[in-house]
Amino acid sequence: MQGLSTSMPHDVQRAMYTSVVGLENADIVRYGYAIEYDCIDTLDVLPTLEFKKIEGIYTAGQINGTSGYEEAAAQGLIAGLNASLKLRGLPPLILRRDEAYIGVLIDDLVTKGTDEPYRMMTSRAEHRICLRQDNADFRLTEKGYACGLVTEERYQKYLNRKQKYEELLAKMQERVPQKQAEPFLQKYGYATVSGSVSYADMIKRSVPLKDVISEFSVFSEYSKDVLETAEITVKYEGYLKQGNELIEKAKKLEDKALPADLDYESISGLRLEAREKLNRVKPLNLGQAGRISGVNPADVSVLMVYLATLKSE
Ligand SMILES: Cc1cc2nc3c(=O)[nH]c(=O)nc-3n(C[C@H](O)[C@H](O)[C@H](O)COP(=O)(O)OP(=O)(O)OC[C@H]3O[C@@H](n4cnc5c(N)ncnc54)[C@H](O)[C@@H]3O)c2cc1C
Repeated sequence: MQGLSTSMPHDVQRAMYTSVVGLENADIVRYGYAIEYDCIDTLDVLPTLEFKKIEGIYTAGQINGTSGYEEAAAQGLIAGLNASLKLRGLPPLILRRDEAYIGVLIDDLVTKGTDEPYRMMTSRAEHRICLRQDNADFRLTEKGYACGLVTEERYQKYLNRKQKYEELLAKMQERVPQKQAEPFLQKYGYATVSGSVSYADMIKRSVPLKDVISEFSVFSEYSKDVLETAEITVKYEGYLKQGNELIEKAKKLEDKALPADLDYESISGLRLEAREKLNRVKPLNLGQAGRISGVNPADVSVLMVYLATLKSE
């Protein structure tokens, strides 16, 4: 029988196995596996997954402190892709936190590091409303196509879906006369409506799109996935707008690059802890700097002022 190679003493493990009915005489002849999660400190790694100090070496997966098949595969994809882009002299691909869970995973690793096996829980993403399964191709296909990961056939499929989606959103603005809209909406608890109502307004009032379709015999030419994305876009328009505003705000900080060789010890307004952490991580931009544990908004303001003085010099 294979056992688990843990810190548990051999006789304790053996006693555990032999306590199971039918395994009274079992013995452990060889330990099956041991797992090391902390071979590499990911604070030493760039968001491309290339080592900061060893050019051309990329790491991905368990060696970076993560656990899980998807976590390993996601990093493998980005590390491999960036190694290939570098060899071809092309700019790297770094996915932002609002573009992909891969972006959240890698940003967490290279900004915060990890002391225990890291798993990509959805709760780690602050832009969850935008990181949906139904809009994955809208977020990522063009990027994949630009760097050669997406085939022409797949890309054309995406363009077709995008075009249908935009067409459907426009059609949802068409209005239904009050005479037909009112009795329909009454079924969903709405008393009266003043004037005509668009299909989009009905969906915003939480009327299921499928009911709108069957009542007014519309949109039958659209596929299920296009209908789903359009319904989510219309129904949650307010939340999505709020989410996009937050993303735009965050992007402004991401766009403010910090010099890679900046010595944070020399910036007097920073707190001691912030100086140490910033020197350790060497963030690429203000957005990343603000996500380092131990760097607070006041420190980010100090860095902003510092960058402004650098520019004016
Ligand atoms: C028992 C068990 C169950 C699990 N169940 C799940 C699960 O249900 N779901 C899930 O998401 N994750 C699960 N995991 C975790 C998941 O398997 C790992 O996190 C993931 O496989 C790590 O992938 P990796 O590519 O980083 O490493 P690995 O898959 O370990 O690949 C590393 C490879 O490098 C090779 N290698 C090592 N040293 C050298 C060397 N010197 N030269 C050449 N090659 C070398 C190894 O032989 C190995 O093939 C489980 C893990 C274990 C152990």
